[in-house]
Amino acid sequence: MGMQKMQSKISIVGLILAVITVFLLNWCDSTRFVLFLLLTIVFLTAFIYCIYESSFKNSPNKLRPGRMKKGIFIIGSLIFAIVFSIFAYAFSPKFGYSSYVDWQNGTQRLERMKKSPYYKLDDSGAGEFQNIRPLITSTSVSILERLKQLLKLVKEQKNAETIPTQKTDLITLDKEADVLVWFGHSSCFIQIEGKRIVVDPVFSEVSSQFPFFPKAFPGSNVYKTEDIPEIDYLIITHDHWDHLDYETVMDLKFKNVVCPLSVGAHLERFGIDPAIIIEMDWNENIKIGENYSIHCFPARHYSRRGIKRNQTLWASFLIETPTSFKIFIGGDGGYDSTFAEIGKKFGGIDLAILENGKFNEPLSWHMQSEETIKATEDLKAKALLPVHVAKFKLASSDYPWYFPLDKIFELSKNKNFKLLTPMIGQKIELKNANQKFKKWWKK
Ligand SMILES: [Zn+2]
Ligand SMILES: [Zn+2]
Repeated sequence: MGMQKMQSKISIVGLILAVITVFLLNWCDSTRFVLFLLLTIVFLTAFIYCIYESSFKNSPNKLRPGRMKKGIFIIGSLIFAIVFSIFAYAFSPKFGYSSYVDWQNGTQRLERMKKSPYYKLDDSGAGEFQNIRPLITSTSVSILERLKQLLKLVKEQKNAETIPTQKTDLITLDKEADVLVWFGHSSCFIQIEGKRIVVDPVFSEVSSQFPFFPKAFPGSNVYKTEDIPEIDYLIITHDHWDHLDYETVMDLKFKNVVCPLSVGAHLERFGIDPAIIIEMDWNENIKIGENYSIHCFPARHYSRRGIKRNQTLWASFLIETPTSFKIFIGGDGGYDSTFAEIGKKFGGIDLAILENGKFNEPLSWHMQSEETIKATEDLKAKALLPVHVAKFKLASSDYPWYFPLDKIFELSKNKNFKLLTPMIGQKIELKNANQKFKKWWKK
């Protein structure tokens, strides 16, 4: 083949590769992160190389680059393509807005944030949300130690046990029934007094920005978005990946979404209509019907979806129905005096949905089972549904996955509240105090 002909062929191939690369970049929301990365890198490198070759189209032979130069160029292009692809991924909508793009400037949202008593600006004008009582951070862990823990977790999840589940059909559910169905971790469906509410739904196989970790325990992901009927209110407690899942939120059908202040920026970036997003600051409440309210309360936690921490608020919520049935949704958060304040303010609540994970050491931003019990008593709750368990193992601990369930079961004996331990997918009859639950996690 003549040199001229070959050069023009390279240009055509280059053009095709450019089109494929643009297509790939549009597709970078895909959960198939590794495939996205590999294809983008290969096509982008090939594209750059084609342009490089074509630029010598009319050069005499002696000016053409030798093997060595070409090799260096290809390696350089490869490095560029890798960096470029990772950035393209990090800018994709699933990451939301808080870390890379200065979405706050000049918006109404920033004005509202500045008015919030919980948003603090430093001298440089940078701001962040803060807890009422600051978190106590223990000694910092080295990168090597983190990496070791990560490898241990990845190894552990390979041998994870299959979780037994049930599947209540929510599509054909009687609209008059007052029920709750837990989906594992902190996700649940609540239907009470004519309203359908879903909290922190995560149906993806992996609940993080990473491709392999943490994976849902085998068998735990029984529900898909098509199993959920249209929801009146979707509640998101904070922007962590195990509570705000891009794929699930984008696939669900909901009329409104309630979230803590500035989490709406993420949702707007996802592509959700701003008109249906209701952002709430701590101690605010909204009416969702006649004598029907959602209250937003503090939680002792933090937020981060990209690099920067605490650019969006984290919260707990309380649903108060027309018959005065009260459901407290703790979200994520360490033990704090807020629980007692809420218990006092409402004169007790009917159901507390509280996190009950188990970590090697006590943390001020999560609760150990003993603290979950204290919080339930502080809230003067009639019933406790312990969550943040049985689906994702997020942090390294020496305990088996069912340990927090065992522990809370033991600690709840002879207490003034009823412990609800449904299987994933099992129907909880919210107004039936006599419903019994099994120790399903024990073989
Ligand atoms: Zn969290
Ligand atoms: Zn969490």
